[in-house]
Amino acid sequence: MEVPFFRPGISDDEINEVVDTLRSGWLTTGPKTRRFEEGFAEAVKAPHSVAVNSCTAALHLALEALNLGSDEAVLVPTMTFAATAEVVRYMNAEPVLVDVDPETLHLDFDDCERRYKQESMRKKVVGIMPVHIGGLMVGMDRVREFADKHSLWVVEDAAHSFPSAWRKDSSSDWRVCGCGDSEVSCFSFYANKTMTTGEGGMATTHRQDLYERMRVMSLHGISKDAWKRFSSEGGWYYEIVAPGFKYNLTDLASAIGIHQLKKAEMMRKKRERVAGMYREGLRDLSTVSLPPDPPDRVHSWHLFYIRLNLETLSIDRARFIEELKKKGIITSVHWMPLHMHPYYRETYGHRPEDYPQASAVYSRLVSLPIFPDMRDDEIEYVMDSVRSVSEQFRAG
Ligand SMILES: *Cc1c(COP(=O)(O)O)cnc(C)c1O
Repeated sequence: MEVPFFRPGISDDEINEVVDTLRSGWLTTGPKTRRFEEGFAEAVKAPHSVAVNSCTAALHLALEALNLGSDEAVLVPTMTFAATAEVVRYMNAEPVLVDVDPETLHLDFDDCERRYKQESMRKKVVGIMPVHIGGLMVGMDRVREFADKHSLWVVEDAAHSFPSAWRKDSSSDWRVCGCGDSEVSCFSFYANKTMTTGEGGMATTHRQDLYERMRVMSLHGISKDAWKRFSSEGGWYYEIVAPGFKYNLTDLASAIGIHQLKKAEMMRKKRERVAGMYREGLRDLSTVSLPPDPPDRVHSWHLFYIRLNLETLSIDRARFIEELKKKGIITSVHWMPLHMHPYYRETYGHRPEDYPQASAVYSRLVSLPIFPDMRDDEIEYVMDSVRSVSEQFRAG
């Protein structure tokens, strides 16, 4: 059997909406993007949203709107995708990499405190960018507490966390990711994320000033949107108020997004079911540790990562992945930590031992296939294969 790592959940609704858009004569940013933005803002209970062509663009716009200076620094977990730290470099500022908790892969707050103290002697640390890895939210109360103590802004890399939610404890209200627990939350609609527009992203914020700046900077620093400019709603006149970017989302993409948005919770529930079957079926296997699933989170289950208990195996992670591939199962690794990549290693002199927890857990990580329309026989086959590779290569 062949099991892909991911299959997007696209149906006739998306296809028909794209065709409708093509026939409408309006392909780029316009009425469908406005509809998608409004629908998304409503879904996450955000006062403002800006649709853009990637999560990377959203993160960049957020840092620009927050006026990140080239002599300043931002705390970023080392266990993340390239985008989180590269946008700090776009602003010529410095990403201060932070070690992660080996269980949740979230920012380790003790290490945040340590690095903040260290870096503050050299540079002004102005912000922190938590990453909700796999769709398990970092407790935003902890983030806020740390940020407020040091007067930092917070930009969430929420690429994995639509839809997700957190609460402090069982007596607190649920808070949806994107509702305004940070200055800006940035979501991804890349092809293999929890919902997709092919490529796309969204920034949500409760701050009017950040919203206005991100809006203007998302399209060349022009003070009016293109669709107002060209449609009967507005005239030919516009002004450039800053050297902006070309980050707008097209109506073709938003046509997909409008329907993905409607299905997002249904698709989350389907992934939750897959995760539940994995958790139940692999629970007794001593060769792997399962991802945490605490009661005070609504998990998007974008990723299902297992950590190999290498002492129980005679093979390493690369070989484990290779053995699954031989059985037709495609897996992935999220991720090699940033401090191990040549650019960050060479630019900032990071060594693996500077981030002991991330370096250690990295060598154990394997992300198993998880997607909404995964069939029972596919789920069973993945579990059987993990079990049989474990048996075949048991240590001793
Ligand atoms: C995918 C991803 C991004 C980037 O999203 P794009 O929409 O491709 O720009 C950023 N951060 C994380 C954690 C991601 O997984």
